[in-house]
Amino acid sequence: MSAESPGPKQSGFKAFWANALRPKKSRQTLRKGASRSMTDLRRMSTRPSTSLDEAPPPMPDLAPLEAHRLKYREAHANLDSQLGERQDYTAIIHTLGILDPEDTYSAALMDRENRPPGEEDITKVPPDVWILIASFLTPSDAASLTIASITLYRRLGPRYLSILQAPQNLSEKLTFLTRIDYSLPHHLLCFPCGRYHRRTAEGTERLKPAHVVNPLFECPEVLNILNPPPRTRITPGRILPFSFVQLLLRAHRFGPKYGIQPESMARRWTRDGWTYTSRFLIHEGRLLMRVTSQTFADPALPPSAQRLLLHSREDYWPYFSACAHWRDGELMPACRCALEHIPHPRATGGLQGLEHKVKDTWQKRVFDPNALTTLCGFCRPMRRCPECPTEYLIEVKLTEDKMDPRGLRFRQAIVVTRWSDLGDGTSPEGLEWAAVNGKSEDYDSFTHRNYAKRGIASWFEAAFTADTLPGQRVISLNPKRKKLGEKGHDWY
Ligand SMILES: [Zn+2]
Ligand SMILES: [Zn+2]
Ligand SMILES: [Zn+2]
Repeated sequence: MSAESPGPKQSGFKAFWANALRPKKSRQTLRKGASRSMTDLRRMSTRPSTSLDEAPPPMPDLAPLEAHRLKYREAHANLDSQLGERQDYTAIIHTLGILDPEDTYSAALMDRENRPPGEEDITKVPPDVWILIASFLTPSDAASLTIASITLYRRLGPRYLSILQAPQNLSEKLTFLTRIDYSLPHHLLCFPCGRYHRRTAEGTERLKPAHVVNPLFECPEVLNILNPPPRTRITPGRILPFSFVQLLLRAHRFGPKYGIQPESMARRWTRDGWTYTSRFLIHEGRLLMRVTSQTFADPALPPSAQRLLLHSREDYWPYFSACAHWRDGELMPACRCALEHIPHPRATGGLQGLEHKVKDTWQKRVFDPNALTTLCGFCRPMRRCPECPTEYLIEVKLTEDKMDPRGLRFRQAIVVTRWSDLGDGTSPEGLEWAAVNGKSEDYDSFTHRNYAKRGIASWFEAAFTADTLPGQRVISLNPKRKKLGEKGHDWY
C-alpha cells in the first residue's frame, strides 16, 4: 500500500518506516510550484515576441512598500510611535475642561479687591427676574444670593432667610451658615443648634480628656444626649470634638484669630498600660491625624491574654486608635500575628538550659533575648481601610521599661500607628469625617483621588522629615470587603 493511498492507517514497525520515508508534504508543494514556474518560463520563451509593439504597463508613482508606509502613517497620524497614545490636541484640551467636575474655581475673581462694583448691573435686571432666578435655587443658595448685596436684599426681601428657619431645612441652614464663617472670627458654628455661639475661650481652646468638662461656647443643647455634638473617638477616654477640627481649619483658611494651630493639639498620655502620642497636620486644606499607641507585650501570650492586651474592657474596642471599621477585615488578626512573633525566652536553668548553652557555644553564637523582631508578610505591611481614609502600621519594638519591678530594662512592645484624614472641617457631613466615623457608605480610599497614588502616612511623614519614607507596600485592611461588623468572628 502506498503512502498516499486512502484507507485505514497501518500500525507497527512497517508503518513507522513507511511514514518516516514518505516525502514531506511541503516539499511536494514546492516541487509542484517550481515545476510549474519552469514550464511557464519555457512557454514564455517559445512565444513569438510581440512585446515591442505593446505599451509597457504604467510605472506606479511610488514603490508598493513606500505607498503602504505612507498610507499607514496617514491612518495612525495621531498615535505616538513610542507609547501608542493618541496625540489629538483638540481632544486633550476638551477633556481638560471636564476632568474634575468636583473642582471649584471660586476665589480668583472674588478676592480681587479692585473689581468694578456690580450694583448697576444688578439694578438693570428687573426685580421679577431676580425672584425668578432665586426660585430655581436651593434654599441655601437663594439665601446666599439675598445677602450678597443690599440691592439684592431689596429685590428679594427676607423671604429666603426665613425659609431656612423651618426645622426640615436644618441642613440647608447649616450649608448657608458655613458660608458666612469668614465674617465671624469670634464665633463658632454649633451643628446641633444650627447657630453661631460666641467663643468663650478664644485662642486658648485646648483638647482635653473626654471626662473633663471643656466647653468652647455656651450652648443650650449641651446636656441634650439625643442631639450630641459631632465628635470622633481617638482612643478609650479620648475624643476629638468636631469643633476642634473647625477651629484648626478656620485658622488655616482665614487667619490665626479664627482658631488654633495644629501644633497646640499634639498630646502624649498614658492609660491602661498603653502610651499614646497624637499629632495633627493640615495637608491640602484637610486635617490629618496620627496616633501612635504602644504597650509592652510578653512573649508567647495565650489567645485570652492577647485579647486582654488589645481590647478595652469598657466597650471591647481596641486600646489602640482605630477607625469605625476595625471589626471587619484583618486589623485584629494582624495584631495577634505580630504578638506571635515576639521571641520566646529560653530556659536558663536545669538540663534544658545547659543544652541551649552548649548548642550556642558549639555554633559560636550568642543568644540575645532582646533580638530584633521580624514580622511576617501578613502583619508587616502598611494597611489601609478600604472604607475610610485611614492607614495602620503594626510594629514590634524593643522599648525601655522604667517601671518594670523585675528590673528588665528593655522589653518588646507592640506599636500600632494610625493615620487618618479628618476632612476639611466645614461640616460633619463632609466626605472624610463621615467615612472615618462609619457614616458614609460610598467612600473608597483606594480609588479616591486624594490617596489613589500616595498614602496618608506618606504625606504625613513627608511633612515632618526631610527625607521621604522608604517605599512601603500598602494593602487593604479588608481585601475581601466582607462586612460582618459585630457578627464577624475574627475581631475578638
Ligand atoms: Zn449650640
Ligand atoms: Zn506575622
Ligand atoms: Zn475605616
